[in-house]
Amino acid sequence: MYSINRKDRNSDPQPPNLGGSLGDLLPDVWYKGKEHIIETNQVEQHIKMKNIVIFGAPGSGKGTQSDKLIEHYGLEHISTGDVLRAEIKKGSELGKTAQQYIDQGQLIPDDLMVSILAAVYDGFGRGHKGVIFDGFPRTIPQAEALKAMLAERGDSVAAMLELDVPEDELMKRLILRGQQSGRADDNEETIRKRLVVYHTQTLPLIEWYKQEGLHHHINGMGSLERIFSDICQVVDNL
Ligand code: AMP
Repeated sequence: MYSINRKDRNSDPQPPNLGGSLGDLLPDVWYKGKEHIIETNQVEQHIKMKNIVIFGAPGSGKGTQSDKLIEHYGLEHISTGDVLRAEIKKGSELGKTAQQYIDQGQLIPDDLMVSILAAVYDGFGRGHKGVIFDGFPRTIPQAEALKAMLAERGDSVAAMLELDVPEDELMKRLILRGQQSGRADDNEETIRKRLVVYHTQTLPLIEWYKQEGLHHHINGMGSLERIFSDICQVVDNL
């Protein structure tokens, strides 16, 4: 849900900074008269933010399908794995801490991840069309923190898309990715640890999102196009 200066209703209203096509659309309406405050529900019809959690085991195709979603819907994208790898490359303190966990196939502590996520999300400013959360949340506390963080900003998750891929296929894909990209954590020993972490800490999120009424199952086997078209069927109806 998007809100425009609700607390400013009795003060001098300013046009919201929405950016992009909505930014072009709204000022016309806005300046019809300062005395008329646009009802937020009218605005919400235009600004339906599609915050999407793309969920699945390592190797399930989250990154690939995220790229297609970005291109198709013009969404922003947060890959927590990419954020951490960039910090490692920079040699920052955060990167040094993250590396110890990543090398062991373990998760970075929740409080650290949540503060990184909030900072990246706020970096997108207001008025974006939605954000794809790729690799986050990975634990129930992270899902709760994401919900609270978005609610504080008047936003919410619109859908959680579970990319479902059998374990033997995940192993094959990750080993191949390790050979091609040289990603240090895509070696057989670390992959096995990551899959155990996925089963014990991340998989319970499926039930959590089912209870939230946000879970959508996507068959992650098959051609990229077929999988993406299944995803679009969900996203188009949000
Ligand atoms: P990914 O590229 O999403 O597979 O992430 C690579 C590694 O980064 C994971 O195995 C974790 O060690 C760490 N990581 C990424 N996202 C998270 C997260 N949301 N919570 C904790 N650790 C994470």
